[in-house]
Amino acid sequence: MDESRKSPIELTKKEFREIGYQLINDISDFLDTIDKKPVTNGKSPAQMQKILGNSSLPENGMPAAELMSKTTDLLIGNSLFNGHPKFFGYITSSATPIGALADLLAAAVNPNVGAHILSPMATEIERQTIKWLAEFIGVSPNYGGILVSGGNMANFTAFLAARTAKAPKSIKEDGISNSAKLTVYCSKATHTWIEKAVVLFGLGTKSIRWIATDRSNKMDNAALEKTIQDDLKNGCKPIMVIGAAGDVSTGAVDDMKGISAICKKYDLWFHVDGAYGIPAIIIPEQKSLFDGIREADSIAMDPHKWLYSPLEAGCTLVKNPQHLIDTFSSHPVYYHFDSTDEEPAQNYYEYGLQNSRGFRALKVWLALQQVGRSGYEKMIGEDIELSGLLFDLAKKHPELEAVSQNLSIATFRYIPENYKNDTEGKDEYLDRLNEELLNELQHGGEVFLSNAVVGEKYCLRACIVNFRTSKKDIREIVEIIVRVGRKVHSKLCFGNNAM
Ligand SMILES: *Cc1c(COP(=O)(O)O)cnc(C)c1O
Repeated sequence: MDESRKSPIELTKKEFREIGYQLINDISDFLDTIDKKPVTNGKSPAQMQKILGNSSLPENGMPAAELMSKTTDLLIGNSLFNGHPKFFGYITSSATPIGALADLLAAAVNPNVGAHILSPMATEIERQTIKWLAEFIGVSPNYGGILVSGGNMANFTAFLAARTAKAPKSIKEDGISNSAKLTVYCSKATHTWIEKAVVLFGLGTKSIRWIATDRSNKMDNAALEKTIQDDLKNGCKPIMVIGAAGDVSTGAVDDMKGISAICKKYDLWFHVDGAYGIPAIIIPEQKSLFDGIREADSIAMDPHKWLYSPLEAGCTLVKNPQHLIDTFSSHPVYYHFDSTDEEPAQNYYEYGLQNSRGFRALKVWLALQQVGRSGYEKMIGEDIELSGLLFDLAKKHPELEAVSQNLSIATFRYIPENYKNDTEGKDEYLDRLNEELLNELQHGGEVFLSNAVVGEKYCLRACIVNFRTSKKDIREIVEIIVRVGRKVHSKLCFGNNAM
């Protein structure tokens, strides 16, 4: 080694600029033409592996410029683009361009947002982001929290805080095996995170009380209360109720006021899963749907959904953030007292599961400032309007059945023209037809939808969390769906001559 060190991984200033400018050029071309590309090329995993090649670990390096340009082509040529204006699958949004720049800046500075001393400004930016998110949804500024990787982690973080707060105190030392049977309550429409949580955190799947939903897919609060009472009689220890602020299939929002009252009555933790729907609270016509969330002990949000942040960004908000410290810190907060009057530094490793942490707050913080509250109100309001347009067009179309519409999720299905209502096996056939249709659409690259089962009907589902989608896109996708629906129907009929 020479006196002055030369590392093979270092880039000179000149190299960095050249490679960086090229990359920025390529990304701007990509974003500028994203609507002209197929949503996905529909290739199989085997075809993808072939394109990637299966060379073994390189022994020696190669020039960074060549590597970056090849990799840009590889990704732009072979990805699914959730930033495409006709992408409405699952709940995955178009990503803010400023978020891409934010991630570059965050990675370059590389603060470790686990500890204040390692990330003095980044920690404060994360704190401000959390405060702004609380303001965004209109809860008390006393809520505190942490940014996490996504909705699942946001819900897990809250779940653990609830368990610490409501389970017998001894579980911190003894574990949960000797305590009474802990139980948790949520509607049948709850996202799969709850099953992972009870498996991972020791309660077991039998601890979940799946509460029935009413016809609009909201939790039946009378059934909730009855179940809690039965469990108390049987010696269980109810700890928390989860309300959905926008269920993942149909966007229904539970009656939060009712749930909150039940939680107060039985001293239970009230958690709101707002991973998808909660940003809609800033739309004046939607606001009252969320009445009661200000009472929540914890709220899960997901900026990488309806705040359009690039992956990954979730957020847990807790009414009394001390519950996070009680759960995740092994040093009580009073250890941090020093002789000054200043408040102690906030160390995020004490607020969640991670130790070293990246600067995911930056992309959220920048987007909130780029467009402000009013910009989000406009974009979210338009997403909801477009979803309503899709629902109306489906309702009017003779070959489509509109099934449900809440927030920005519409569900509907294709029904062939002149299809007889009394045909034997009709329901099974329509389910099969729509499933085939979805497969065809997902691989076709013109539009990307996902599915939902609503009232036992297999439906196509469009969730619009996409600031690039226009009315024109919505009109075009109706045409696409009907055209492909006809094709799949005639293929199925021809294939099994049952019709
Ligand atoms: C998406 C979603 C989740 C999970 O969020 P991820 O970001 O995918 O981890 C949880 N709950 C609801 C209601 C969701 O919509």
